[in-house]
Amino acid sequence: MENINRSIQCSVEQCLHHCVNCDYCSLDKIHVGTHESSPSQKQSTDCQSFQAKL
Ligand code: SF4
Repeated sequence: MENINRSIQCSVEQCLHHCVNCDYCSLDKIHVGTHESSPSQKQSTDCQSFQAKL
């Protein structure tokens, strides 16, 4: 049975780690980072554990 981590809510259904038919990540932990030198808004942050579905 697929793991559902209810501490990590996520709506990115295109991610390989997104659980099927629910709004959570299936990983035990994720890494959040940024692609900007001085992040100032939520759009500045990224889930670096994202992997595109094949
Ligand atoms: S790895 Fe990141 S983007 Fe993918 S399901 Fe988990 S929280 Fe969402």
